[in-house]
Amino acid sequence: MAAAILDGKAMSEDLRSGIARRVEKLKEAGIRPGLAVILVGDDPASEIYVRNKGKGCEEVGILSETVRLPAETTQEALEKEIDRLNRDDRIHGILVQLPLPGHLDEEAALARILPEKDVDGFHMINAGRMMSGVKGVVACTPKGALHMIKTTGLDLSGKEAVVIGRSNIVGKPMAMLLLRENCTVTICHSRTKNLAEHTRRADILVAAVGKAGFVTPDMVKPGAIVIDVGINRVDGKVLGDVDFDGVKEVAGWITPVPGGVGKMTITMLLDNTVEAAERKRELAARG
Ligand code: NAD
Repeated sequence: MAAAILDGKAMSEDLRSGIARRVEKLKEAGIRPGLAVILVGDDPASEIYVRNKGKGCEEVGILSETVRLPAETTQEALEKEIDRLNRDDRIHGILVQLPLPGHLDEEAALARILPEKDVDGFHMINAGRMMSGVKGVVACTPKGALHMIKTTGLDLSGKEAVVIGRSNIVGKPMAMLLLRENCTVTICHSRTKNLAEHTRRADILVAAVGKAGFVTPDMVKPGAIVIDVGINRVDGKVLGDVDFDGVKEVAGWITPVPGGVGKMTITMLLDNTVEAAERKRELAARG
């Protein structure tokens, strides 16, 4: 039997109406959540992401500001801009669109954002909080992917979860979130030997590799939840890391690309921005 589709578009619509209601509530208290996105240079893929983020903000009533800086921007100028947004009371979330041009220090730029405004969850403090199981900002893509996994209604405790990819923005935080759900987690990467032996054990398989069609049906356990994080542009088409047509005949659940995790990532960014505004309000109320 073909897998059930985990539809990121439908899930996002549902979640976004809840987020819009929270924005309304904040507005009644005189607060409009604000998100600032810094875009350095003119990478076409980044342009699309930034536009979609702006549209998402508009949809739920979040104030959105895009700061465009030229490709030759210096580290000092970039950090000055981050400092300005850190001080701006209208802005609750700051996101530096990655990748930055090669001459800029990504790590230093991310570290410059106030942790409470780091809605991407990439700041060391937030990454550390997640590692330690302390409440903090959770990175948008893994947060969205976990939401999708949970909609299956399966009890995740004790399940075998395999994450392919160990990046700081997807693979590692994804693995931590699954660990928090009491899964038995394996992280695979470019040096993993006999990859398929690992993936075939997975009740939950997350692919965050960056190679179109990398996960083939023979690598998947029948009935597994397969989450495709990959976004690969091939001949003008957007393809995932999973061979969707083949794998959907084996898996129990599968996310499509497009219309899967990517859509949820932006929704979680909106969620994190509203959460940041709610947290600020709570702190102010406590004095
Ligand atoms: P990355 O390049 O930082 O990491 C890729 C990982 O894949 C690495 O850890 C590497 O070890 C592993 N890998 C590479 N070749 C492998 C192989 N042959 N076998 C096993 N592992 C292998 O990429 P990333 O930033 O983690 O992104 C991964 C993919 O997810 C990309 O396609 C990216 O565009 C996409 N992405 C999507 C979203 C979204 O919103 N859906 C967000 C972020 C990234």
